[in-house]
This record gives sequence, structure tokens and C-alpha cells, in this order.
Amino acid sequence: SHQAAPAAPAASSKPSCKPAVFVPVDRSPEIQEARLKLPILAEEQVIMEAINENPIVVICGETGSGKTTQVPQFLYEAGYTSSNGIIGITEPRRVAAVSMSQRVAKEMNLSHRVVSYQIRYEGNTTDETQIKFMTDGVLLKEVQKDFLLSKYKVIIIDEAHERSMYTDILIGLLSRIVPLREKKGLPLKLIIMSATLRVEDFTENTRLFAGTPPVLQVDARQFPVTVHFNKKTPLDDYSGECFRKVCKIHRMLPSGGILVFLTGQAEVHSLCRRLRKAFPFQKNSTAGDDDDERKESVEEMRKFKKSRRRKKATTLPRINLDNYAVVPVDEGDEDRDAETDDDIAGSDVDLDLGDGDSEEEEKSDSSLPLYVLPLYSLLAPEKQAKVFRPPPPGTRLCVVATNVAETSLTIPGIKYVVDCGKVKKRFYDKITGVSSFRVTWISQASANQRAGRAGRTEPGHCYRLYSSAVFMDFEKFSAPEITKRPVEDLILQMKALNIEKVINFPFPTPPPTEALAAAEELLIALGALKEPPMTGRLKEQQAAKLSCPISPLGRVMATFPVAPRYAKMLALSRQHDCLPYTITIVSAMTVRELFEEFDRPAASEEETVKLKGKKGRLVQMQRIWAGQGSLQKLGDLMVMLGAVGACEYSGCTPKFCEENGLRYKAMLEIRRLRGQLTTAVNSVCTDAGLYVDPKMKPPTEAQATYLRQIVLAGLGDHLARRVQAEELLDDKWKNAYKTALLDDPVFIHPSSVLFKQLPEFVVYQEIVETTKLYMKGVSAVEPEWIPALLPPYCHFGKPLENPPPSYCPETGRIRCHRPSVFYRVSWQLPAVEV
Ligand code: ADP
Ligand code: MG
Repeated sequence: SHQAAPAAPAASSKPSCKPAVFVPVDRSPEIQEARLKLPILAEEQVIMEAINENPIVVICGETGSGKTTQVPQFLYEAGYTSSNGIIGITEPRRVAAVSMSQRVAKEMNLSHRVVSYQIRYEGNTTDETQIKFMTDGVLLKEVQKDFLLSKYKVIIIDEAHERSMYTDILIGLLSRIVPLREKKGLPLKLIIMSATLRVEDFTENTRLFAGTPPVLQVDARQFPVTVHFNKKTPLDDYSGECFRKVCKIHRMLPSGGILVFLTGQAEVHSLCRRLRKAFPFQKNSTAGDDDDERKESVEEMRKFKKSRRRKKATTLPRINLDNYAVVPVDEGDEDRDAETDDDIAGSDVDLDLGDGDSEEEEKSDSSLPLYVLPLYSLLAPEKQAKVFRPPPPGTRLCVVATNVAETSLTIPGIKYVVDCGKVKKRFYDKITGVSSFRVTWISQASANQRAGRAGRTEPGHCYRLYSSAVFMDFEKFSAPEITKRPVEDLILQMKALNIEKVINFPFPTPPPTEALAAAEELLIALGALKEPPMTGRLKEQQAAKLSCPISPLGRVMATFPVAPRYAKMLALSRQHDCLPYTITIVSAMTVRELFEEFDRPAASEEETVKLKGKKGRLVQMQRIWAGQGSLQKLGDLMVMLGAVGACEYSGCTPKFCEENGLRYKAMLEIRRLRGQLTTAVNSVCTDAGLYVDPKMKPPTEAQATYLRQIVLAGLGDHLARRVQAEELLDDKWKNAYKTALLDDPVFIHPSSVLFKQLPEFVVYQEIVETTKLYMKGVSAVEPEWIPALLPPYCHFGKPLENPPPSYCPETGRIRCHRPSVFYRVSWQLPAVEV
């Protein structure tokens, strides 16, 4: 049996000492042979001695040297799991957690009951689990439940060079947990593993560890890789260029696997399809070629539009700010390890956009079969595993991958790398906190990592689809994620971990202090943090503001994978069945450019006319989507709802989008985000049983009113008031709005359906600056809602010269006997009873 006999606990006077037992592992001869080729095997003794002698060890080694698969085995054999306690390994990517647990189980000839994995929505851990691979987000959740992580003997933080936000926070947390465990006489070993250099942020950070932990270097055999740059300036159509490059390699160069780096799942599928068409031999097509052309029903469409003109308003109470879904805190193991869009779980829609040029495919006359495999995070594990198996005899392997193949997974037998030089990354809008995925250039470190994939087994070649001049302009390393993300999101997460004094947290690379303070302020205003008492000196008050504990509402908000403003909207939306609408609105706000742009300069007279026609059609449609009455006051958000509903009703076809001025890709993205958010909501409100009907009915008049209130509650700091006639300072303020955040006049964007209506109070999604400052994503709100729904932004009595930052009286409530209520920029508001 492979199971170790339960050994006597390795209690000793020297707690960091080596465990007393040796646990045999029964490996197959082939596995043993393959292992012996790995550079890390030669270092086993050095590594184990360092681990036995030190609580914290850093291991650096080239990708593919065997860190992830072998170090857990070293520890297991050395008896680290033989008494109570298991080995935990964190990965920033789900795909790595799953795939590595399977590989290690296989190498050790143990079942998944013993070598298991846990990712956000699934896992196969058991009572017998001794080696557990997980995403960093999962371990972070475990810290919330058990700060000492008592069930672990060893924690390995893998891929630390990726500097994912959760990995960074975990390292900060573990720098405190390790000494605590030492004190308790239950020592915990921490091993940080990293592919590239630049570990100084961890080792030379005095705030982090007392003393420098030893850094072990694993020297990998790396064969020379010849790098070929493109001469031309980089192309927009890098997908097409990849296709041509692979065709050339396949036709002209000697045998050896090809690895192509693209940026996302859709591109990967598209290129796979093109390559299979060009070099046909496989009958088994992979998933994703879904041709679900649902028929557009004109009749249904008409009914849908009609139904939105339904009337009947009733008088309404307000939404209840205290009514939010309450989560059991120990629920779930959420991780937010999404690095690229295809890492986002929760959607079952497998998108395959195609390139639009699929008809004029180059047909190959080559008879050599090409074995084409896709690789990306959301690919089913069985399909992922294919890349590790040798290709069918007489074929050449070609893996088309996202950057999961950069450092997380090492594919055997690769001799040629085709690098498009791009990566899909999440970006955050500074004003709105809205995240979006954008394709950008990679860093030099990434480019070199990608090239290195070609030289694992023999000398190789890397084809970079960009010039060396462009390469020289790449940043050296990409900045740690934590310095790029909006911190309000991060702070909320840390508060959910009960880390109250975020400013004192030992970040490997801290975010700017002002950013932390601003985030805390916003979270207090949103009600996600408990407000400190307004007593004592200003200084004390300010200090208290920087260490507020999380509120129950904050806990709910922390579970949604969106920025806190939107999370608050979601949290309030269980009332009056508003959730499906809020989910759609949040998804649509997250996706940029829903509508086609028709204002671009045209090449010819003829085109000008055509664009004008299309624009006219879009404006007309937007007016229809905006609905009437109360729906119309929801403004641009109603247009979003209407557009998504109408599009889904038509089956979300490229044709429908084309005819109605919608961006097809945006609509698909919205569909996916809706799926993802629905899953997230269902995992929070386990009783909600929410199902998002793609073909959503328009909201009722009442729901539209509630939605406006919900939006106001979430976007409270994005409130604007039209400048009144008597306040007109000069002409530049005509039709202008005054916001709480800016001194300059801002205007409703001409593309907004509320452009002509000029409601007195509006909330906006974002401000863009072109010729003027324009608000986009505008909804009208009623002034009497503001003191009721935004108490932290209001104050009483006289308008203040310089209104202080938001505060509210002890109760946090506004009472009606107060004479006047003012928004924090001294707009007088109607006094209301709350
Ligand atoms: P590192 O973590 O240092 O990058 P790994 O431990 O991931 O290295 O990989 C070591 C070796 O194990 C690589 O050569 C890789 O190809 C191989 N390997 C990893 N997973 C599998 C698998 N599922 N099947 C076959 N080989 C694998
Ligand atoms: Mg690894």
C-alpha cells in the first residue's frame, strides 16, 4: 500500500527540524526515468536541507525545471505529511491547480483522494488528502476561517513571479502566520517558488520577513533558442500572421512541436479552426464550434417591443437599504484568479467568434498532418491533458495557447514558438472602477519566457511577430497586479479577511497610501465599512477612518466579482426581483462600446450617406429601447437593457447586431458576463435559484423606479445636478451640470437618450473628456431620494462654505425634523423622513 503508516508525531525540541519518517513512493519506471531528467532532481538534497533548517525558503528555477511537480513529492517523501498536517500548493491559475494535481497524483501513483485540488467552483479533496493544489484565492478564503492555517504543515506559493494580487496578499499574510505558528510550537514551512528573477521584492523587503530567507537557484538545462523578429511594424491582424507563420514552419522546417501564443479563447479557437482546415486530417473537432444560429422570429420581436410599451405606474415605496442578501460567511471558496478573460468561470457559453475572413482560407497542399490542439484556462481538463501526450505518430504537434503556456504549464516537445507579443489583461477605469479586458503588449520578461518554451528538449526557434524596435519598447517586467488594480476592491477583500489596518499590512509592493485612504472613504460611504464614531479630535477620527471594520453589507459585497459600487447595486437588487436587470446593467456597463461608432470620417460621399443612415437607425432604435414613462427615466441604462433584451430575443446574431448598430462582440461579452454574475449571485444567495433568461422581459414601471434608486445607491458619488438659470455664471455653464467630484461644467453626452431632457438630478457611469467633459451612462434620479438613499453624502443645517468630507450623525440616519438637507456640494435637497 502506498499509504504511510501513521507515524509517531515528529515532536521534537527543535521545531523546525526534519520530520523523522521517510515515506516511500511507488513510481512506475517510466515516470522515474522522466523525473530523473528534471534539473530539480539533482537539487533534492540541497532543497530539503534548506527547508528543514529554515521556516521560509525561496526556490527559483526556469519554467519546466520541475518545481511544481517535484517539490511536493520531496516533501511527502521526507515525511512532512506523515503526522497531522498536509501540504498546500497555491497557483494563480485554475488550470495549473487542476492539471498539476493530476500530474503529481499520477507520478506518485496515488489517487486524487490523496493528491487533490480545489478551485473556486470545484475540487476533489477528501479526508485523506495530503497534497492539495489550489488557487491562491481559495487559500485566502481559508485564512478567513482559520488564520493559522492549522491543517497545513507546508504552504508552497507557486508562480510568485506572476505577482497576482492574491499571491502578494498571501505572502504578506504568511509572513505573519509563520512566526505565529512557530510560537505555538506548530511550525509551518513556507516555500515561495518563482520562475524568473526579481525575487528581491520578497527577500529584501524588511517589512515582510525578519532576515533574508535563503534563495535556492535551480539551474535548468536550456537549449539555445534563435529569436527571429518580424521586420515590419506590428500588424493588427496578428491572428492572421500567426496562421501564415505556422503554415510556413509546418511546410518548410524540420519536425518539432509548434507553440503559438495568442491572447484569448476566441482567438485560439479561430486559429485552430483555420489550421485544421488548412491541414485537414482530424475528424475530431474540439468544443466551441457552436453554430447555434437560433432563428430570428419577427413576430416575437414585435411582441417584445410592444410589451415594453405597456403602461401603468403605481405609487411606490423606496428600496430598502437594509435589504441585502446575507451570506453565511463560511460559504464558498471564491477565488478571483481571473488573469485573462477566459479564466473567468461561471459561463457555459463557449464563444468562438471567428475572424470574419474564414472563407478565403489558404488551402495547403502539404500532406504532412498537423495535430492542432487548443489550450486555455477554461478548456475542460481532459482536453487540456491532451497537450502533454505525444502527438499521433507521423504528425506534428501544434498547440495554440493563451499565456497559460508561458510559465504555468510546460508542454513537451516544443521546438518552435510563435509569439504574437500580446496578452489580454484586465484594466480598470480610474473614474468608474469598471474593469475591461484589453489586449496589450507583453513585457520583455514575458517575451523571453515565451521564447524559452522552444528550448526545453533541443535547440529551438522563436518567431516574434513584432520588430526588435518594438521589443525594446516593452516594459522590462509587468508591474505587480496590486499596483494596477483599483484598491477599493482590494481593501474590501482584505476587510472581509478582518484585516482592519490595511495601511500597516506588509505588502510585497504596497499600493500608494492616498489610494488606500480614498478607497476606505468610498467604502465607508457605500456602507461596506462600519463608520468610526465621530468623536475625538480630527486626527483621531482620520486614523479611525483608516481602520474601519467591515459591515454585514460589505461582506455581501465582497463576494461579488465586480467593483464595490456595482457590488452594492447587486446586493440591493434582490428586492422586487430586480436582480436580473441589475446583473444585465452591470454587465453592460463593464463592456465598453456597446454601439457601433458611426461618427467616424468617411472615405467617400457614398459612405458618408451610408454612415448617416446607420446612425439614424441606431438613434431610432435607442429611442425604442429607452421605453417610456418611468422606464425612460432610467435613461441610458434602460437603453442598455433594451438593447441586450432585443438582441437576445433575436438570437444574438451578427445580422441583428449589424442591422441595429450593436457591436456583436460586445453583445457576446455581455451574455458571458451575465452568466458569470448569475453564478456568483447564486453562490451567494444559495436560495435565490436565479436563472438569467437571456430574453429578459423589460422591467415594469415600478421596477424601473427601483432600479433608478439602486443605481443611485451604488453610484452616489457620481451624482450631478443641472445648473439652474439663476446660478448661470456664464455661457459655458449653459445646460451644464455640477458634479461632486469636479469643479468644471460637465454635460450629458449627445449620444445619451437624456441629452435633450436635461433632468435636474442625474447619476452617471463615467465622465469622458473630448471637446468638453461629458457624462455617459446617465440615469435620472429624484431629489427626494438622495437624503434617503445617500445619507453619508448629505449633511444638515446651513450650506457650508467648504463642506467637510462626507459624514452623517451618530445614527447614520436623517431625521425629518431637521430643516434642510444638503448634498455635500451644498445642493439643497428636500428634507425627507427615513
Ligand atoms: P516548473 O514548475 O519548474 O515549471 P513543472 O514541475 O511544471 O516545472 O514541470 C516539470 C516537467 O513535467 C515538465 O517537463 C513538464 O512537461 C512535465 N509535465 C507536467 N505536467 C505533465 C503532464 N500532465 N503530463 C506529462 N508531463 C507533464
Ligand atoms: Mg511550475
